[in-house]
Amino acid sequence: MITLRSKAEVEKIEAACRIVADTLEFLETKINPGITTLELDNLAAEYIEGRGAVSAFKGYKGFPAHICTSLNETVVHGIPGKRILKGGDIISIDVGVKLNGYFGDAAATFPVGQQITEEAYALIKVTEKALEKGIEQAKPDNRLSDISNAIQRYVESNGFSVVREFVGHGIGTRMHEDPQIPNFGVPGTGPRLKGGMVLAIEPMVNAGTYGVEILEDGWTAVTKDRKLSAHFERTIYISERGPEILTKWRKKKL
Ligand code: MG
Repeated sequence: MITLRSKAEVEKIEAACRIVADTLEFLETKINPGITTLELDNLAAEYIEGRGAVSAFKGYKGFPAHICTSLNETVVHGIPGKRILKGGDIISIDVGVKLNGYFGDAAATFPVGQQITEEAYALIKVTEKALEKGIEQAKPDNRLSDISNAIQRYVESNGFSVVREFVGHGIGTRMHEDPQIPNFGVPGTGPRLKGGMVLAIEPMVNAGTYGVEILEDGWTAVTKDRKLSAHFERTIYISERGPEILTKWRKKKL
């Protein structure tokens, strides 16, 4: 069942989302060659706590860290550790927090240093734009799969592929609520979208084929062909007028 949220509830979700977006913006300033993913996790933990929220990921089904740090061929759920970032890497950071019983969730992929390959740059841009295309479809009377289809079409027309194994989701008083939101599919199917829905839309886009596999730690999802992957996610609210991004960045467009 998809929960419709009151204005008061959306405000509470938005407060959690504000912290999520600010955490990502803060971490972006720390992403430089030489820093470890564990240092990023520690910085995130401190920042989130300083804002009076708690990480929604730490302890979630046993996840051991506060954020996910997914480098290069890692699609999602990379565990922070000793890995040192180097120039030319790309890193996806996923942040989720809980504040006063409500959740926010967002992710973005960043270049490390000034020089990444042209393909890596294109992958990041296409993934970010695909999310925007999906969000545009999140309006009353559209169907859920209109979001999925818009993302898939944009990604594939740019020569990349969308991951099948992981999907977006409803969010509110739990991090993962109905509905599941695939990033692929035919348009015009699934539940009809309504004002009051709050969704986390999150395309994961691979440079090569869409297959993924999970490493022995039980979390880290990597591309089967070990080519690059990018991930952007925003929590949005469907108002009667259309989509409103709740994890809005202050500096960037999305
Ligand atoms: Mg999510």
